[in-house]
Amino acid sequence: MNGSAIVADTGERAALREAVGRLVGKYGHGYFMDKAKRHKEPTELWADLGAAGFLGVHLSEAYGGGGGTMSDLAVVVEEASTQGCPLLMMVISPAICGTIIDSHGSHELKSRWLPGVADGSIKMAFAITEPDAGSNSHAITTTAHPDGDGWRISGTKYWTSGIDEADAVLVATRVPEPEPNGKRPLSLFVVPTGTPGLTYQHIEAALQQPEHQFTVFFDDVRVGPEALIGAEGKGLRQVFAGLNPERITAACISNGIARYALDKATRYATERQVWNVPIGAHQGISHPLAECYIAVAQARLMAYRAAEMFDAGLDAAEASNIAKFAAADASLKALDQSMQTHGGNGMALEYGLADLWFVARMLKTAPVSREMVLNYVAQHSLGLPASY
Ligand SMILES: Cc1cc2nc3c(=O)[nH]c(=O)nc-3n(C[C@H](O)[C@H](O)[C@H](O)COP(=O)(O)OP(=O)(O)OC[C@H]3O[C@@H](n4cnc5c(N)ncnc54)[C@H](O)[C@@H]3O)c2cc1C
Repeated sequence: MNGSAIVADTGERAALREAVGRLVGKYGHGYFMDKAKRHKEPTELWADLGAAGFLGVHLSEAYGGGGGTMSDLAVVVEEASTQGCPLLMMVISPAICGTIIDSHGSHELKSRWLPGVADGSIKMAFAITEPDAGSNSHAITTTAHPDGDGWRISGTKYWTSGIDEADAVLVATRVPEPEPNGKRPLSLFVVPTGTPGLTYQHIEAALQQPEHQFTVFFDDVRVGPEALIGAEGKGLRQVFAGLNPERITAACISNGIARYALDKATRYATERQVWNVPIGAHQGISHPLAECYIAVAQARLMAYRAAEMFDAGLDAAEASNIAKFAAADASLKALDQSMQTHGGNGMALEYGLADLWFVARMLKTAPVSREMVLNYVAQHSLGLPASY
């Protein structure tokens, strides 16, 4: 599937798409799965992506980035995924953490972390989800207690991806004392993963991926003033700076998986003959694939529209949510139909489809579940009353 056609890339954007595809294509899905099976980091691929300027393409030039846009990063993430390498760390480190720090960090904080995030020498995990709060991030309880010129952080996060390979974690905490309105505002910190009191435990998950997930324990973790992003108690606005990039790039992971699956399906359907014509000549095979293509095309257009709105400084929340929802559904459908097209071989790991199932499936639930997107659309787009 030509990546540029439906989204009408031209010039530098088309060249970026082509360059990312070429670089990641040298590694391909076999490399990705080999790392996943051996529980190894995709070090070589990550370093190459960083050295080429792709990981920091959207970050400020003054801090080692490319001075580009979220639309550029969306292209990078989608094309990596289209080559069979849907790296969650691309969403977490450069898209969420990089964007939040670039938008709200002090000069010192940006200088300390962004050049490494951009060139790939530093990875950053993102910890907001908590066991007792779940989708309701307003209910998180991890707390930053003032301590001299810094803070002591205590609490538990779960499903934190990639903290084992990260140099630092961007963590959402609450201030200890409520404000007059009874609320305890958020503060965000960048905590180096080697800080005493920070430990983590692996969560066994079905996903076959280089990145793993962890429960993270903050036991009186002492951080200094240099760890705070922006001002204390202003974390909600800062988290919001990362949410739309998270949704847009998560959508791009899904869309890339969908294109990868459809590419394989169309190739197989053209080559495989079981009667006297290629199986793709049967409309029972070609029409479902055409439907998948249409769904993916729509999801891709929505993702790039959301990125453009973000880049233009418009409110991109509705578009980002819709893009994420549409892409997760389109990619699961495309992957399923590609497996169906492959007959029994759809289940054979050597065909590189079945092993992506749980990654694609996970994107219906994380980073934001389809129900929470429907809640958003019901309330904000349709003006219906909130149920909670
Ligand atoms: C592989 C993976 C990687 C992840 N990586 C990270 C990470 O790096 N950092 C991080 O902070 N988090 C991460 N997460 C967490 C992820 O964001 C959450 O799992 C997700 O937001 C859902 O929260 P929950 O699991 O607590 O589900 P819950 O909130 O318990 O929800 C359970 C179900 O109830 C539904 N539900 C909840 N509330 C409502 C409502 N009001 N209306 C309708 N339905 C509702 C949900 O949609 C869901 O279907 C990851 C999760 C996974 C699976």
